[in-house]
Amino acid sequence: MKRNILIGGAWPYANNSLHIGHLAALLPGDIIARYHRGLGDEVIYVSGTDSHGTPITERAKKEGKNPAEIAEFYHKEFSKNFKDLDFSYDLYTATYTDYHKQKVQEYFKRIMDNGYIFEQEEMQEYCPKCNNYLSDREIIGKCPRCGGVAKGDQCEECLTSLETSEILDKHCKECGSEVILKPNKHLYFKLPEFKEQLKEFIKTNSTNWRKNAINESNKYLNTEMPNRAATRQLTWGIEVPVKGYEDKRIYVWIEAVLGYLTAANKVAEEKGIDFEEFIKKSDKFKSYYVHGKDNIPFHTIIFPSLLLAIDPNIGLPNEIISSEYMNMNDEKMSKSKGNLVTISELVDNFDKDTIRYYMIACGPEKKDVNFSYSDLITTHNKFLVGVLGNFVNRNLSFINKKFDGLIASGNIDKTIKEKTIKLYDEVGSLIEKGEIKAALEKCMDYVISGNKYYDENTPWIKVKENINEFNDITYTCIYMIANIANLFYPFIPTTCEKIKKMLSLKPYKWEEEEITGNIEIKDLQILFERIEGE
Ligand SMILES: [Zn+2]
Ligand SMILES: [Zn+2]
Repeated sequence: MKRNILIGGAWPYANNSLHIGHLAALLPGDIIARYHRGLGDEVIYVSGTDSHGTPITERAKKEGKNPAEIAEFYHKEFSKNFKDLDFSYDLYTATYTDYHKQKVQEYFKRIMDNGYIFEQEEMQEYCPKCNNYLSDREIIGKCPRCGGVAKGDQCEECLTSLETSEILDKHCKECGSEVILKPNKHLYFKLPEFKEQLKEFIKTNSTNWRKNAINESNKYLNTEMPNRAATRQLTWGIEVPVKGYEDKRIYVWIEAVLGYLTAANKVAEEKGIDFEEFIKKSDKFKSYYVHGKDNIPFHTIIFPSLLLAIDPNIGLPNEIISSEYMNMNDEKMSKSKGNLVTISELVDNFDKDTIRYYMIACGPEKKDVNFSYSDLITTHNKFLVGVLGNFVNRNLSFINKKFDGLIASGNIDKTIKEKTIKLYDEVGSLIEKGEIKAALEKCMDYVISGNKYYDENTPWIKVKENINEFNDITYTCIYMIANIANLFYPFIPTTCEKIKKMLSLKPYKWEEEEITGNIEIKDLQILFERIEGE
């Protein structure tokens, strides 16, 4: 059965360069997408740049720029990073596009029409001099605990996080005037209405989820889960499609996460797919959401409740691919700590498949890991050069030297053939469960077994003693190489393309490649060079 597969990669926020932590969290999405395309499924794989909200507004103000300039600058950089690493998004867009805005407004109206958004008036901090309602970041005051300076939602002295209402002696950060309280109306989303449905959804749906996803979701479900403000006093963002809300914008938490729907909708339109039909809950539909562990409740609580509010027939997230962190010396990477390795830096120094292989083989799938250049180099030398590169090269170079690049047809070893066919199912089922690292290990074990087969059968001796036996051994190895080019394709596509070209193989598909007849090696090249030093 051809399935409908929706894969959503988390939307990075446009106020800093992407670092390897982002890459480690997002790369599994590309592997899943390539795998499903290989199966012939209908795949929609989307992501984009999250470009609204206060951090960008504040930064723009500081740098004397327009928020749009900042968002566009990072959107360009992110797009290049993903392209450089062969991410195969069907669409990588941004939340500032007209299409996203218009679709979000449509969804917002549907949620309102279904009765899950209501208006409420509340007292809010206001600066009479600036004529502005103030967000927590625009307020400065005194900490009720220690008397120190409190900015926004945190005390700078004792670092306690504070509610704006707790802060004493509040002043406007911009002009220093005393802050007054003034009634202001906002729209709210009835999140608590979905609590029971979410509990049921997580209980029945989380078989393959990682521990962090189950724990974080249950933690959230055990909180009070109040109604959430759906609008904000801001000018940079998506306009609220309701009269009287001209000075407000749709809150980022609602709008950015709906990007999965808006972007997927756009892809469906371009491919001529009926989108409502595509995302309908059914055995045919499967969705994956790929992100880091700090993003879990957005994908297991907030997004599903928005989907339920829009239309209960939409398929809820099936797989939650929530990575742990990739750290530097056991510390979370951050710009302020100065321990950031950006994706651009990595791409400038290493081959993309080296980076992709390392990020999966040594990535933070189920526990935090430390990034190190020496691990990356060791992994490259040991597996890509020493195992994969070696197996392909020792076979093809030998044929090139002795037989002028012509591989004679032979009989493929039966046990190896059976093992190969089975491997597609085994690796595939691991990928579908989000066990990407184990899937890659299984593929690498296959190559290790190939080298062992080569060593044990000594083709370099057989070539002199028994040419038929030599041809069978070699043909079996070439058969394995042809299947390596499929099995590794989701992980290291560029390398697999190179192998396919050298042996004139069929385009990638997630199924056994049966080779027939004599095969000619074209333009033999070394797949990976050893990296020396640190
Ligand atoms: Zn003011
Ligand atoms: Zn304090």
